[in-house]
Amino acid sequence: MKTLFLCFLIQVFFSSADTLPQNRRDGYVHIAEADTSAGILILVNKNLKLPEGYRPHDLVPVEDKYNKGVMNLLRSLAAAAFSDMCRRAEADSIVLWNRSAYRSDTIQAQLFENAVIRRGLKNASRYSARPGHSEHQTGLTVDINSVHPSFGNSPEAAWLRKHAHLYGFIERYPKGKEKITGYHYEPWHYRFVGIRAAKYIYENNLTLEEYHGSIGKEIRDTAR
Ligand SMILES: [Zn+2]
Repeated sequence: MKTLFLCFLIQVFFSSADTLPQNRRDGYVHIAEADTSAGILILVNKNLKLPEGYRPHDLVPVEDKYNKGVMNLLRSLAAAAFSDMCRRAEADSIVLWNRSAYRSDTIQAQLFENAVIRRGLKNASRYSARPGHSEHQTGLTVDINSVHPSFGNSPEAAWLRKHAHLYGFIERYPKGKEKITGYHYEPWHYRFVGIRAAKYIYENNLTLEEYHGSIGKEIRDTAR
């Protein structure tokens, strides 16, 4: 009982009056720092936050031909893989392009604020991340073509679901996994993790959270 009371006091002491209820409402609890040493397998979500001002060192623009976004930077490996994937899609008469890739924490802060104004905190948090918690800040993530839910029914989305892993990309927020990922279904949001991990995740129907939490450790260690 004494221990419980002590825990309660510690929690009250370290939580400011306005952040605690907010955390409970929008899913941000037990926040720790993301492991940037994991390289392209880095896990960033509502519980794992990038260090303040984090910016990958090897950002390059997405190939012009496959870009329509103002935010057009990806880490070099991801940019090359994205080009390969778009080229292969083209051969199947599927047109893919970057809509939004790397975002700094400053830009993410503005986007999140706007989303909260539009949708309210709880609903905004199902679609948009707080600064430091966005995968887009890793430079390994790309929103492809459309961010409308109907994109999920398009031939482009169907092609991506079937082929993206062959180029090292995974559908990061799949249907029915919101409780694990913390985000609503986003058929346009693809994350580069490298071909080996992507293939494993695809074949076992996992999220990146599940991959990190279980059997992926061995692969993760050799893929760094
Ligand atoms: Zn996205």
